[in-house]
Amino acid sequence: MAVIEEIHTKINTGVEYINSLRNRNLKVYLFGELVEEPVEHPMIRPSINALAKTYDLAVAAPELASVISPFTGERVSRFLHVCTNANELVLQNKMQRKLGQLTGTCFQRCVGMDAFNSLYSVTYEMDEKYGTDYHNRMKSFLTLMHQYNYVVGGAMTDVKGDRSLAPHAQADKDMFVHITKRSNAGVWISGAKAHQTGCINSHWMVVMPTMRLGESDKEFAIVGAVSVTAEGITYIYGRQSCDTRSMEGGSIDVGNATYGGQEAMVIFDNVFIPNEYIFMDGEYDFAAMLVERFTAYHRRSYVCKTGLGDVLIGAAASIAEMNGVPKASHIKDKLVEMTHQNETIYATGIASSYQGYPTKSGAYICDEMLSNVCKHHVTKMPFELARLAQDLAGGLVSTLPSEKDLNHPEIGKLLRKYLRGKADVKTEDRIRILRLIENLTMGRNAVGYLTESMHGAGSPQAQRIQIGRAMQLEYKKRLASILAGIDVEEDKDLLVEEISGYFGRVFGLANAG
Ligand code: SF4
Ligand code: FE
Repeated sequence: MAVIEEIHTKINTGVEYINSLRNRNLKVYLFGELVEEPVEHPMIRPSINALAKTYDLAVAAPELASVISPFTGERVSRFLHVCTNANELVLQNKMQRKLGQLTGTCFQRCVGMDAFNSLYSVTYEMDEKYGTDYHNRMKSFLTLMHQYNYVVGGAMTDVKGDRSLAPHAQADKDMFVHITKRSNAGVWISGAKAHQTGCINSHWMVVMPTMRLGESDKEFAIVGAVSVTAEGITYIYGRQSCDTRSMEGGSIDVGNATYGGQEAMVIFDNVFIPNEYIFMDGEYDFAAMLVERFTAYHRRSYVCKTGLGDVLIGAAASIAEMNGVPKASHIKDKLVEMTHQNETIYATGIASSYQGYPTKSGAYICDEMLSNVCKHHVTKMPFELARLAQDLAGGLVSTLPSEKDLNHPEIGKLLRKYLRGKADVKTEDRIRILRLIENLTMGRNAVGYLTESMHGAGSPQAQRIQIGRAMQLEYKKRLASILAGIDVEEDKDLLVEEISGYFGRVFGLANAG
């Protein structure tokens, strides 16, 4: 067992969580240097604060952000829970929106949550086919995570090398995480995972394949849990737009001084995974099922962005008010448009959860069509919300002088005079709102709100492929031809064909419905 189990007790609050991250001696590189203590680093800390909020929300609103663990009987984070009904899937979405509202950024826990939920059913079905013991191992691992209420990251995205080649055909095998050697006790893995959300802020990571695998890719068909402190792991911190503003010491120019996201590259150099933490080892034929189920959960987890959208709408409405024009009809109309788009994302995400159905293991999975539609909206609509927010903000959002100028004994007075909007609004407050809009639309949290909306959980084309594969054109053509009088014989099957759950059938998922 790794050392961290012995030094921790169950984590309940945000402060306890932050303390649990100290003194771990992780090998984290940032700006070409090893970071001594990530918790104290001004550029890293906002991402830790965002994740800490998931604990604080669980304390403040236990029904929303925690569950009674079926393994330990104690309250644990909802992020560690495997859903056994549709309402629990819906509650995940409600929790995600709330956390987006409270942090204005990515709070980094959904990948692990979605990984557990998909692995729970996939391990069950692997055992059924191969007589393996992965499902029990998964449950034991979950029990351990629940005991300490840990943060578990999901590591899926391989660096992929030449995109036209399968893993085994790459010039350098390390382009996909793979097994390098094995013993009776377990396996060793090497490779790298790119843009890993919250990895440095996690306690454990679940490593998974990133795509469908063939027989020649057996050594790449590995799923296992590793402690983030495991020997052989190097983290290289990803830069974000305007990230060094948090190292300037002020609180205005960053726009959102408390919260930020985190992405890093994780490099595995012969990292050992003991048997008890291995949940797939060579069953390449289940890699596609795992990826498809994971994306079914994860693409509707992107309702997190509607929480950020709420913040942006609030900021846009505030700046209009501070400028003295809240009643102008075009401004109201733009706020309505922003709200319409934001709620459209939410509607499809939460509908995907409401349409959840049971897998053979008892774990519930979301409707994959609606999940893909949700994520596809997310690749577009936040960009339109950002455009409208910048429209309402005016050019000042990108030409504001710095906080140091604002606080300068001489020119500060001039800035406070000339940058004033309505007489009863403090100039500094107006600047703070403009900086928040900048933060969300081109600054640090635009990484989460815009670029991650584009590429997280698969780039736009990945959703179009899934939507295309399941759009039931033959069925829909039959409907049309019957009503047009081309096909005179009404097919009885059409009367019973259901929309709900059809994705399960199309993708060969277990569907008890
Ligand atoms: Fe969760 Fe959203 Fe961050 Fe993904 S981008 S981890 S869904 S908050
Ligand atoms: Fe993400």
